Amino acid sequence: MSNRLDWVRTELQALRDAGLYNHIRTIGSPQGAWLIVDGKRVLNFCSNNYLGLANHPALVAAAKKALDEMGAGPAAVRSIAGTTTLHVELERRLAKFKGVEAAITFQSGFNANLATIPALVGKEDVIFSDRLNHASIIDGCRLSGAKIIAYDHCHVASLEAAIKENLSQHRRGLIVTDGVFSMDGDVAPLPEIYEVARRYDILLMVDDAHGEGVLGKGGRGIVDHFGLHGKVDIEVGTLSKAFGVVGGVVAGNALIIEWLRQRGRPFLFSSAVTPPDAAACIAALDLLESSTELVDRLWENARYFKAEMKALGFDTGVSTTPITPIMLGGAPLAQQFSRELFEAGVFAMAIGYPTVPQGKARIRVMISAAHAKDDLDQGLEAFAKVGKKLGVI
Ligand SMILES: *Cc1c(COP(=O)(O)O)cnc(C)c1O
Repeated sequence: MSNRLDWVRTELQALRDAGLYNHIRTIGSPQGAWLIVDGKRVLNFCSNNYLGLANHPALVAAAKKALDEMGAGPAAVRSIAGTTTLHVELERRLAKFKGVEAAITFQSGFNANLATIPALVGKEDVIFSDRLNHASIIDGCRLSGAKIIAYDHCHVASLEAAIKENLSQHRRGLIVTDGVFSMDGDVAPLPEIYEVARRYDILLMVDDAHGEGVLGKGGRGIVDHFGLHGKVDIEVGTLSKAFGVVGGVVAGNALIIEWLRQRGRPFLFSSAVTPPDAAACIAALDLLESSTELVDRLWENARYFKAEMKALGFDTGVSTTPITPIMLGGAPLAQQFSRELFEAGVFAMAIGYPTVPQGKARIRVMISAAHAKDDLDQGLEAFAKVGKKLGVI
């Protein structure tokens, strides 16, 4: 009998024993403040649906119209079979929204990073990457074959020391950082990073997946938040979080966008998002450009929830954004906390290693404009109950 798969069984059991096994819940309803999860109605504290757009009537209507007019699928990669008017329109509108020269869309934010980094740097080059960057940035860096130097998290002196030591031995350099760090909710010191990039004339790239629709005027993102228009070469984003749909975007300098259309491998070798996806994203832009109401409500909700959680005695970490980590320490405690919350009618996932460092397991609460104050109060009540029961507060 063959035992070539025994190692998989062993590894899976090790994950279970360490409290690191991913139990994936099944959702039986549209996204919103409340969900049907595994048949139970629960308060949704998990999704990145920051503005409640995932099931917004305007997005659903736009997707239906595109489905009727343009069909269900794109049928081939854009560089071979052409691209729809909807995709072109989406890119034009995204560039305008972000206040940049040009934009290109991808199937996901993950793919946007996999496309962009290897197109910009190769074996002769060096990348300076924040130690806590998202997995898709890390994979994009590895794929490029460039030398990767991880600098200390949000530490500009560490970044500069790494540049001084390494840049001269390489053809060119790239600095890459998350805008908002998804597990802690802290924001990269982009103005200081920009000063360093300018001083050494290095390409600067920021992944604003959790900043788009959240930071800046009406959700225009981290570059707008810091007033750095025209200074950041490459802004990566996702259309799957605040935008509520699916897809990735790279916005910035027109030359770089043109280069990505020629050399971004996920653009050249993988089909685009569907016409209904593109149309729904355009509808999201219409909403964002017409009013700041949703973004304002998101921040109001986030401030309220975070202040109340602190008052209850929870450690909410270093977040300055609507991402609200509840720091618990051990992964088994975080998993138990999440299970108890679910029993109490709250869907909030435990996050452990390797998504966050060992010993820094947490429940991550994602606040949304879709939450009413009543919803937040119910969530707080459940956290208080479980926190007391498990001796956390
Ligand atoms: C979520 C996220 C991504 C991936 O976006 P998808 O569109 O879901 O693939 C990339 N980068 C960062 C920083 C993210 O938080």
